[in-house]
Amino acid sequence: MKYTYEFMTDDQKSLVDLVDDILTKTLDPQISELDQKGEFPWDVYNELGKAGFWAMDVPEEYGGLGLDCVSVCLVREALGYHDAGFACSFSASTFGIKPVLLFGTEEQKKYYGEKLAAGVISAQLLTEPQSGSDVGNMLTKAEKDGDSYVINGRKTFVTNGGLAGIYTVAAVTSPADPANGKKKPGISLFIVDRDTPGVSVGKEENKMGIRLSNTTDVVFSDVRVPAANMIGEEGKGLEYVGTLLARTRPTGMAPGLGLAQKALDLAVDYCRTRETKGEAIGRLQAIQFKLADMQIKLQCARAQLIYNAQLIDQGIYSTPMGSITKTFVSEAAMSVADSAMQIYGGYGYSREFPVEKLFRDARIFSIFEGTNEIQRQIIGRDVVGKLPKKSK
Ligand SMILES: Cc1cc2nc3c(=O)[nH]c(=O)nc-3n(C[C@H](O)[C@H](O)[C@H](O)COP(=O)(O)OP(=O)(O)OC[C@H]3O[C@@H](n4cnc5c(N)ncnc54)[C@H](O)[C@@H]3O)c2cc1C
Repeated sequence: MKYTYEFMTDDQKSLVDLVDDILTKTLDPQISELDQKGEFPWDVYNELGKAGFWAMDVPEEYGGLGLDCVSVCLVREALGYHDAGFACSFSASTFGIKPVLLFGTEEQKKYYGEKLAAGVISAQLLTEPQSGSDVGNMLTKAEKDGDSYVINGRKTFVTNGGLAGIYTVAAVTSPADPANGKKKPGISLFIVDRDTPGVSVGKEENKMGIRLSNTTDVVFSDVRVPAANMIGEEGKGLEYVGTLLARTRPTGMAPGLGLAQKALDLAVDYCRTRETKGEAIGRLQAIQFKLADMQIKLQCARAQLIYNAQLIDQGIYSTPMGSITKTFVSEAAMSVADSAMQIYGGYGYSREFPVEKLFRDARIFSIFEGTNEIQRQIIGRDVVGKLPKKSK
């Protein structure tokens, strides 16, 4: 197994071996077909559930497996080695509960946790057609009406939008009012069950890569939820999301690491057998240097991800560190997949060979969970620190 490493505990090795075994048998034979159709494999999801992997990062007291963050990253990497799209959907299946675990009530944690432990998938709904990076520009509203809130709006690019049974939705609860000094809207988070009247799944994205991951719009038309479904305090939604992203951004890149390891392994196999002028291309320094660069990026990306996961396990949620990890791992994955394609030559560009799909799958990691431009902005601001006021 290429993704068991010396630092891993016996338990971690057993976990990734089990994942590898399940996916080798159930997912690998159908990946090509699912990639063409753009379908999520429920059967594989259910097999992982039977082996106890649902809600793997939810604490045991709320029905989950209670794995630490390092172990979760290792499992996600193993999933990503087989298919990054499936790994992304599987990883995101518990994203919705994260703000609840950090800021929700005991009742909400139990309710959400029990659902995820029973195999219900969750989703995190921030992005809207007009607001991605500019998240504060969202239009979805939640208006108080007695003991309820009524939600109206459209969310887009929702990972697991069409698969989830439970959503965590960000909505404006008090609009911006610049004339009275309120520059930003008050945004709050809500738990919304998919079967609540007025909730519907909109168009599904026909994506370039990670095609086993489901991505849809979700529409809210006069969706009434009890006020008790609000997570934490009113108006603090964006603050909560900031804390949350410090955790999900770096760890959401683990599937990209698995993908990159697969690209390197395939490139190594290929260069041992593909010949030019009667000798394996693996003898060429030009190819060896490429492999060396791939290995350097991969090893450094893994070290950074595991370091960040260790920080999270110690309760240290650093936004700049999460951005550093997110940026480095996503760009390493893209670069390694690109190099694998180059080593495959023309066959790398052919859909009959596996690296073409890895290249397509790798592209998303620098876009979602906040684009890498936004990450650089966060890192840059942190590095430069507080500046003196403008002189003019
Ligand atoms: C497959 C997939 C799955 C996703 N899953 C989810 C999900 O589960 N939940 C969810 O809420 N969202 C999800 N997203 C949305 C994703 O997080 C956004 O697409 C992303 O944050 C970028 O927003 P945008 O697409 O609106 O691009 P824009 O914000 O419009 O950005 C366009 C370009 O401008 C740049 N840019 C924008 N603002 C700045 C700035 N201030 N400084 C410098 N450059 C800037 C960006 O980096 C980018 O290059 C998903 C997206 C995809 C494609």
